[in-house]
This record gives sequence, structure tokens and C-alpha cells, in this order.
Amino acid sequence: MRSEAISKIFEIAQAENRDFLYEHEAKELCSHYGMPITAIKIATTEEEAVQYSNEIGYPIVLKIVSPQVLHKSDAGGVLINIKTPEEVRAGYNKILENVKEHVPTAVITGILVQEMAPNGTEIIVGSTKDPTFGNTIMFGLGGIFVEILKDVSFRLVPIKKMDAEEMIKEIKAYKILEGVRGQPPADQETVVKILMATSKMLEECPEVKELDMNPVIVYEKGARIVDARIIL
Ligand code: ADP
Ligand code: MG
Repeated sequence: MRSEAISKIFEIAQAENRDFLYEHEAKELCSHYGMPITAIKIATTEEEAVQYSNEIGYPIVLKIVSPQVLHKSDAGGVLINIKTPEEVRAGYNKILENVKEHVPTAVITGILVQEMAPNGTEIIVGSTKDPTFGNTIMFGLGGIFVEILKDVSFRLVPIKKMDAEEMIKEIKAYKILEGVRGQPPADQETVVKILMATSKMLEECPEVKELDMNPVIVYEKGARIVDARIIL
């Protein structure tokens, strides 16, 4: 049985007539299932953005929160590697300016302040609902591996530990996860945990029609979900 806190996330979206969760709501949902997310705070003033950045610690990332902007970087709504309070102030206003220019009708809910995840191996975990078979879960490496090479693996939900392990091993680019050319290996145990937690989340949350965690950055130890998009 899922907790009240989880149901609450969906209730808020429904009350606001949204057919999607904001990134911070999607991440909160993921964290209820034990998945590793970035530290996040929503600012509604420049002052708050600075305060939250100081609390989270630099470098930080700023992102637009708007019901009209689901693909945030397309609208100039993502600024990474912000290192000082002055840069936070400038970045806060820059994002508002960019979004107004790209999507003039956008209503601004706030600016998401988050921890900047260090570089690592980028993976993608996704899900769509098949009308006949129900929830599917997808795994692949980030960037060209998914977009151009379509090097991904799929399973139907629910998955077991062995399924998650197989999903990881059956992509063509698997070797990259084991570490190549001086790159450290990626923490496959953590990836297995994320896949299984995603499966559980999909089972318990029939509201979720589509899920796109892109990217998830994986380290030698641990991982961070850097972006999460959920369609209801
Ligand atoms: P979009 O809605 O455009 O997909 P993302 O949240 O994925 O926006 O941000 C765009 C890109 O910025 C990501 O693919 C990633 O490379 C980088 N990025 C975003 N958030 C972070 C973060 N917290 N730490 C490090 N890099 C990030
Ligand atoms: Mg993204």
C-alpha cells in the first residue's frame, strides 16, 4: 500500500488540472521509493533562490518551473554550474527572461534550485503504458545511445532483480558501464535498485502514464536522478 504522502502528490496535480508532475514532484515521488534524487528547493523570489543555493551548496543548477514548459532547456530554462550568490541572482532573472521570450504565455510557478550532480555515466530509465500489456520499463545509456542508436532494453512491469540485471547487461553499450578507457565502472547495483524501485512505483501509481528519468547520472558508488518527467 502506498503512503498518504504519495497520494497527496497526485491530488495536488489533479486539483490544479495538470496532466503532468513538475520535476520536483516527480523527484519527490521517486524519493518515496528510495531512489536517489538531487537536493531540491522551489524559490519564488531572487532572495529565496540565493538562500536555498547557500543551503544546498555550490555549484548549483537553476530550472524553470512552469506548466507550459515541460522541455525546460528548449526554452532556455536550465542554467548549470552556478557558483556564487551573484550568479544565482543573474541566473534567476536570465531564466525568467529566456522563458518569456521562448514561451510568452508561460505562467511561472517558481525557479527550482538544485544540487549540481558531478559528471558520471548517464543512463535513462523510462516507462510508457501499453494499452494491452500495461506498464513497460525501459533502460538505456544517455545521449546518442538512446536518441540515435536506440540501444535500449524493455520489460513489462513488475520486474524481478534478475530481470533488472538482464536489462542492464543486454544493451549493446553494456561495456561502458563496466568502465572503459580509464573511466571508472558504474555502480550497477544502484542501477538495479533504481529499476526495481521504478517498477514498484509504476505498480503502485496507476496515475503515471509516462515516465522519463533523463538523465540519471551513475557513479562508482551511487547515482543521482538529475531530471524526471511524469505524464499522468
Ligand atoms: P530538460 O527539461 O530540458 O530535459 P534537464 O533537467 O534534463 O531539462 O536539464 C538539461 C540538462 O542539464 C541535463 O540533461 C543535464 O545534462 C544538465 N543538468 C540538469 N540538471 C542537472 C543537475 N542537477 N546536475 C548536473 N547536470 C544537470
Ligand atoms: Mg532532461
